[in-house]
Amino acid sequence: MTVDTHDSAIVGRGNRDGAQLFREWYADLNRDAEAGRGAAYVFVMGSLSELLRTFDLPLVFPEINSLQTAVRHVAHEYLNEAEDYGYSPDICGYVKADVATQLRNGRLPMGRIPKPSIAVYTNACNTYIKWAEIWERMYHVPTVTIDVPGSRADGLKPMQGDRDFDNDRRYVAAQIRELIPVLEQVSGKRFDIDRLREAMGHANIMNVSWKRVLELNRSRPSLFNALSDGTIFLGVCNGFRGSAAGAKYFSDLVEEMEYRAARGIGTLTDEQYRLIFVGVPCYPIFRRFTELFTEHGGTFVHSTYLWFASGGSNLGYQYDLADPIEGLAEGLLLGVRDAMDSMFFAARPLAQMIDEYAIDGVVFHPIKSCRTVSTGLADTRRELLQLRDVPSLFVESDMMDRRVVSEAQIKNRSDAFFEGLASRRQQVAAART
Ligand code: SF4
Repeated sequence: MTVDTHDSAIVGRGNRDGAQLFREWYADLNRDAEAGRGAAYVFVMGSLSELLRTFDLPLVFPEINSLQTAVRHVAHEYLNEAEDYGYSPDICGYVKADVATQLRNGRLPMGRIPKPSIAVYTNACNTYIKWAEIWERMYHVPTVTIDVPGSRADGLKPMQGDRDFDNDRRYVAAQIRELIPVLEQVSGKRFDIDRLREAMGHANIMNVSWKRVLELNRSRPSLFNALSDGTIFLGVCNGFRGSAAGAKYFSDLVEEMEYRAARGIGTLTDEQYRLIFVGVPCYPIFRRFTELFTEHGGTFVHSTYLWFASGGSNLGYQYDLADPIEGLAEGLLLGVRDAMDSMFFAARPLAQMIDEYAIDGVVFHPIKSCRTVSTGLADTRRELLQLRDVPSLFVESDMMDRRVVSEAQIKNRSDAFFEGLASRRQQVAAART
């Protein structure tokens, strides 16, 4: 496909602008660290960025910082340092990279990050709670856990008007109301509900746009690779949630994807196999991992990562701006619950994805150091295979630790997977003749 002058201004803009936003983001954090300002430490599943922004607290996402060390091929230095300090090789690699970052006074390849003044997080991952205790011990800062009730059963999605749902929303709203005075104390700023309303308005644009971007990838050829391009979009989705810059980025991204869809501008020139990625990416060989699939004409058109790590944006949820606290509570409840469902009850949504995105194969990527997402993937695979007759690959490695990432082994497995896909396609074609 020849790309004309006009195309080049739009096509690829999401990747370019995303990279630029992140350069600016780290430059801001570096300035804050040098100025000795304290930050709010948060996590991607339920960050409450909309609220924290209104107190002008710099936001630090330790998961994003840690994965960046792996993408930049220095994670092993951070992991070794934390292990020498006493942390087990067996625990979440993000935690250990962050511990080493704190021991290095916030120094990362991207610049320095500020120390925490507070940590705010949910129970979406049990590691969040133990991780925050490390900062509590290191810096004696307040740590606030927002307890978000999960789904009671697979497929059970109570909504407004349901007694359990209303009770759950009130429970979350009460915790947000308790958090506000703590944030006032930490930041020295009075809570301003109009600023919250404004931030939630930006998040509404982001949410509806992210949902649209994901839906647009049903196009054939697919418009972006959910693993490589999608991770850039996801970073902006988390880091810029509730900001005007984030809302603009996502409006532009919808425009780019609609433009590409209308002109058939795909991520691959010859798309052969449409895949779903399940799990957390292999950051130590991030680009190469994707190439092992694109070299065979395979592209990831969707992933569970873009689902659970988007903080609920995938749902396109629209906050009620008339009642911001209740609206925020409901959005947090639905978003975090949906993220937890992606781990506990993934099979049926995956089956739906297979149908909607015309999927040829599913790649499961369980990893050593994230048990939260990896535990149960084998069961999910078995359950999915009962629902849909679609080939799957189960390949294990890690998101941080290159000691347990074998590129040769992944290549062997992916090569065999594509041989299977090709032979299956031939058999189907032969059966038709
Ligand atoms: S265990 Fe997994 S979900 Fe939890 S913090 Fe680590 S990487 Fe994130």
